[in-house]
Amino acid sequence: DAPHVVVIGGGVGGATFAKYMKMYSPETHVTIIEKNKEYQRPYGSSEVIVGRIGMNDITISYDDLKNKHGVNFVFDTVTGVDYDKREVKTAGGTTLKYDRLLVAPGVSFDYSQIPGMDSNEAQSKIVHGWDAGDQLLTLQKQLQAVPVDGTVVVIPPPNPYRCPPGPYERSGLIAQWFINRGDKNAKVIILDPKNGFTVDRTMLQAWNRLYGFNLPESFKGYTAEERATFKKYDTHGKIQWVTADEGGRVVKIDPATMTVETEVSVFKADMINLIPPLKAGKIALDMGLADKSGWCPVDQKTFESTIQPNVHVIGDACIAGQMPKSGYAANSQAKVAALQIKALLAGQEPIEPAFQNTCYALAGRDDYGMFVADFFRLKNGVITRDDYPRYLPFKASDAQYQLSAVYLHAWMKSFTEDIFS
Ligand code: FAD
Repeated sequence: DAPHVVVIGGGVGGATFAKYMKMYSPETHVTIIEKNKEYQRPYGSSEVIVGRIGMNDITISYDDLKNKHGVNFVFDTVTGVDYDKREVKTAGGTTLKYDRLLVAPGVSFDYSQIPGMDSNEAQSKIVHGWDAGDQLLTLQKQLQAVPVDGTVVVIPPPNPYRCPPGPYERSGLIAQWFINRGDKNAKVIILDPKNGFTVDRTMLQAWNRLYGFNLPESFKGYTAEERATFKKYDTHGKIQWVTADEGGRVVKIDPATMTVETEVSVFKADMINLIPPLKAGKIALDMGLADKSGWCPVDQKTFESTIQPNVHVIGDACIAGQMPKSGYAANSQAKVAALQIKALLAGQEPIEPAFQNTCYALAGRDDYGMFVADFFRLKNGVITRDDYPRYLPFKASDAQYQLSAVYLHAWMKSFTEDIFS
């Protein structure tokens, strides 16, 4: 009998895995259990908030995976697993038997550490928009309702979280949206629990050029000579970044008065976009696959859970050494996991894996982009980044930023095709 691999979650990780598993091993039965009939991609989804694209542009059909690649689908929510019997159960009452289980449920959101945000009411007024869905439209409406000269507060999460450049890209997109509506004084204030972020060197430089952005004194990512080349403005322009060292850590939010209290001051906002701390998707937590960190430990060669045998976890939910939580990373892990599970099902040794990731981001304008590009290998059991230059060079030209934006838009299209077509 042909083996059966069951996949929980038809997002970037689960869908890529299913397609490549069928390509590498056509005889294997592959079934995705996914709660939504269509996928809404979180990657690139901040552009919905500023109206550059619509919800239809981020909505993707599963038809090709079904019809072209022979992947089976059960559209239902997974509620639990019987590890002894190797059975997955769904809310609708379906039970599926597996030889290997691939878990890729993405992320869940943890409001427990943020006073003021523990009620449903607070969470429906102040939304994250970090998992696509209707929250993007809520943010779009909230942005449109920001008065002239208004203030948007963006609160990025602590590490680790999905899409490291994402909260900063979103801040830039909103700043640019204000410029496009001719709003001279409206601004974005970023209240950060961190002192740096992936692509900070290239992002801050772009903001300094485009948005009258002043470098925070506390930022340590530049040498003194590099810092001296930055333009200094009398006031904060369209974007102000309050780092952790400057008291950016949020200690309380009051949704009724729209005030955000940090360690050192209080900010009044017309719109608040809080991205709370993240954890592995709820089903992974419920299945007991996460450790104390809230993420799922795996053997980083095969992605087999170190907690449950025959269960593999990939994508945002897993702990993958130095790989970030990104779509590109989930896609790269999925291809490796398919090869490894093929080998394991045949009783063969797993291969020596290699991985890649590129996170693209816009500074705000649609034609001003940047990236961080990496290769990874396994070193002493940990997925470790090769030490190559990863970013645009310091003082990259406008043309280099513009070319990066071209890459970004091309990647968005070819990446989606690689997963779902
Ligand atoms: P997901 O893609 O979230 O898929 C999880 C799937 O599991 C979902 O379809 C969900 O419905 C399903 N599921 C969960 N629980 C259950 C259950 N119990 N039963 C059934 N189904 C279930 N990445 C990049 O590489 N480049 C970018 O430019 C980029 N930009 C981003 C911008 C933003 C604003 C955001 C929020 C993210 C961005 N990302 C980007 C990150 C990227 O979207 C994620 O890293 C990626 O989607 C992770 O894939 P995943 O398979 O782990 O999770």
